[in-house]
Amino acid sequence: MKDKDTVWQEMRDMLEVEINSLGFDIWIAPLRPVEIDGDVLVLNSPSAKSKTEVAAKYMPLLRRALREVEGAPSDVTLVSEEDGDPPPHGVNIEVAAARAEEAPPRIFEPSSLNPKYNFENFVVGGCNRLAHAAAQAVAEDPGKVYNPLFIYGGVGLGKTHIMHAIGNAVKLSASNLKILYVSSETFLNEFIESICAPKAGNQGSFRDKYRSVDLLMIDDVQFISKKPGTQEEIFHTFEALQSAGKQMVFASDRPPQDIPDLDSRVRSRFASSLVVDIQPPDLETRIAILQKKSQSAKVNIQYNLLEYIAERVSSNIREMEGVLTKVMFLAKLNERKVDLDICQEALNDYRVQECDEITADEIINCTCRYFNVQKADVVGKKKNKEIVEPRQIAMYLINELMTLPLDKIGECFGGKEHTTVIHARDKVSALIVSDQRIKTAVGDIKAMVLRK
Ligand code: ADP
Ligand code: MG
Repeated sequence: MKDKDTVWQEMRDMLEVEINSLGFDIWIAPLRPVEIDGDVLVLNSPSAKSKTEVAAKYMPLLRRALREVEGAPSDVTLVSEEDGDPPPHGVNIEVAAARAEEAPPRIFEPSSLNPKYNFENFVVGGCNRLAHAAAQAVAEDPGKVYNPLFIYGGVGLGKTHIMHAIGNAVKLSASNLKILYVSSETFLNEFIESICAPKAGNQGSFRDKYRSVDLLMIDDVQFISKKPGTQEEIFHTFEALQSAGKQMVFASDRPPQDIPDLDSRVRSRFASSLVVDIQPPDLETRIAILQKKSQSAKVNIQYNLLEYIAERVSSNIREMEGVLTKVMFLAKLNERKVDLDICQEALNDYRVQECDEITADEIINCTCRYFNVQKADVVGKKKNKEIVEPRQIAMYLINELMTLPLDKIGECFGGKEHTTVIHARDKVSALIVSDQRIKTAVGDIKAMVLRK
């Protein structure tokens, strides 16, 4: 039997075609698969109200979609924590959003900029020079140059930092301007609330809020993929702000053309922005970042030790910061100056965390999810490009992230020869240098695997 996530993903794909976009965004998208209990797929609904609505409106459709999914359980049921149903495992943002419904509507709250992130503590290197320059220009003269600005780059490379830096700089130099920073999830949740919440005028308030600002920043816009209702709303917000000469900044983990399932109007608006990327930092920039962070924590660490750390952590700056925090913590705990032993200990923990519990299966699953292909095909014999590419990337990543002999890697793919694995490894290594799309894919899948 397929796992709950795969079953739900396939059902969602079908329902998205059948249900109008607003209905899909409001009722279906927030559902989360909890488990497969015997022969029943259990879906969590964010609130008691939405559970009742979904049951009344969509149950026959949900059942029909389920029947279409091969290897799926035979029935579906809805639960909601608010009804006293058992809570789902893991975190569920929609539950939180639904709870917030009872509180005064969040959509009237002012946005919060994180004062921790500013231009002064943003280290500029070859990897982010363009994004930094564009961001500074925008902050100096919002709405006039580079409008909109679209920043993209891998996880933990400073996109959110740079957006807050723009906001904080504008706040300082033009305190009369209205600034709004939101994640795309917040945008989506508030949009849904504005439609579902019974209070009259909420929808107007939502629009007022987003269309009356001087600087609107929406982070992680890749998450609006497959959310046609939200995309439509973003499109109209976009049009309203642009015609009023207001500044917009978007961030995403990939360039506009690589965000799947995006309305062509939204895609073309994103693409017409100034699109700038942030690349993983080189060694020198990594050292400079560590220097800045340790200085601001007022901890003195020798240059050669910072270099030692920077050489050994991945290109994800957030993870590198984690190692530095651990180093400083260990030094404080042992009442010692930071030395090589401490750095090694912190790095050991980091590696364990990085490599522990990763399995070949997980890597293959993440790769399949990323490319939206079936695992059976990837570990099977198909030779079409849509399947061969994910297969080679999964082989490459297993080789990179695990200490598995080549022939054992081959076995994970239905008994392929070790020479096939070598070919895949070399091919993907070369493509990472020459093909931005592959580089992004490999980086994203790696982040998915390591985040587990
Ligand atoms: P992203 O939004 O791209 O996933 P973040 O902006 O959250 O990444 O950055 C992750 C962490 O790395 C943050 O703590 C941020 O301050 C830090 N960081 C990223 N780039 C830089 C930089 N160039 N200089 C200083 N710190 C940085
Ligand atoms: Mg971010």
